[in-house]
Amino acid sequence: MDFEAFFKTRLDALKAEGRYRVFTGIARRAGAFPRARDHAHGGEITVWCSNDYLGMGQHPDVLAAMRAALAETGAGAGGTRNISGTTHHHIALERELAELHRKPAALVFTSGYVANEAALATLGSQLPGCVIFSDALNHASMIQGIRHSRADKVIFQHNDPADLERLLKTADPARAKLVAFESVYSMDGDIAPIRELCDVAKRYGALTYLDEVHAVGLYGARGAGVAERDGVLDRVDLVQGTLAKAFGLVGGYVAASAMLVDFLRSYAPGFIFTTALPPAIAAGAVASIRYVKGAAELRQRHQERAARLKQRLAAAKLPVMASDSHIVPVLVGDARLCKQAADDLLERHHIYVQPINYPTVPRGGERLRFTPTPLHSDADIDALVAALSDVWSRLPIRRVA
Ligand code: PLP
Repeated sequence: MDFEAFFKTRLDALKAEGRYRVFTGIARRAGAFPRARDHAHGGEITVWCSNDYLGMGQHPDVLAAMRAALAETGAGAGGTRNISGTTHHHIALERELAELHRKPAALVFTSGYVANEAALATLGSQLPGCVIFSDALNHASMIQGIRHSRADKVIFQHNDPADLERLLKTADPARAKLVAFESVYSMDGDIAPIRELCDVAKRYGALTYLDEVHAVGLYGARGAGVAERDGVLDRVDLVQGTLAKAFGLVGGYVAASAMLVDFLRSYAPGFIFTTALPPAIAAGAVASIRYVKGAAELRQRHQERAARLKQRLAAAKLPVMASDSHIVPVLVGDARLCKQAADDLLERHHIYVQPINYPTVPRGGERLRFTPTPLHSDADIDALVAALSDVWSRLPIRRVA
């Protein structure tokens, strides 16, 4: 087989559709976020698509904790969690996460993706006759975990407790069941009816699995997520989250009963057979979570910035999509135009945002996804709206009538 020709054909197909990704070499400027240096074009840009939702990636407490741990322990963990890779920083982080979610225990993975993949693959393959009920818009990491578990999968309509119930009704009562969904869906910005979904799941004896990746740090009195905001932390059996978004670092985790966490710790290949996160990351994460837990004003400002941006975009007749959360999607509806708009924003307006294409969103749903942070000023918002108005007038992209 001509392997190179095969790879080229597949890459050409992406290019023809306009959804081939080109890396932009940018460097965030710690202390000046959302500003970054654009190494490709030179000059300073404003980042509008970072998932460092609160700017914790540059917070002095986080950087100080990381520097101290780096000086204390060196760079890498030096082993898997079971074989020399567990430091007191990892243990402190798992305690902090368990406390945040009001669960008896937590377990840290190398990313949120790995946490979902490992936890779902392990649960789905080990629970006897397991059937996994999965929201239609679940993230790729959950889909892969379910696939790798080889458990039977049943897809329920997005955020629809009635459809979940209809499907659970038909399942064999003797089989183990798991219901997996997210709280904040990161591309549309809508929020799950967690209480209702859990009520249905519990009626049929199912284990509830909630991905709060885009909500931890951001919702609830202490930033434990939408389950905390809605008063349903105890209805969720397993909460999965990330350290990479609102907490500003890298890594993923689950929080659940002591037995469930110990089970995953002991059986999940994605936990066992990989090197632990660097201790400095764990130390930075502890500092970040502690700060964010007490920073209700940061969460309020984050929501206020998102609301202001949505309102300003709507006033400019730009097609901002309905969103219940801090995520602000603007519809373009075409992969090529979406890329052109993003390129134009960067090159002419020094605004950095990435096109969101199929398969992340359906074809025709291509969009620009803006993530305002507490660090984006009124002037930043004004500059963004003016730049988008300019791009929309130059390209054949629909405005709101
Ligand atoms: N779950 C959801 C819903 C996500 O959007 C993401 C995205 O990055 C992940 C999990 C993976 O988390 P991480 O970036 O920490 O790997």
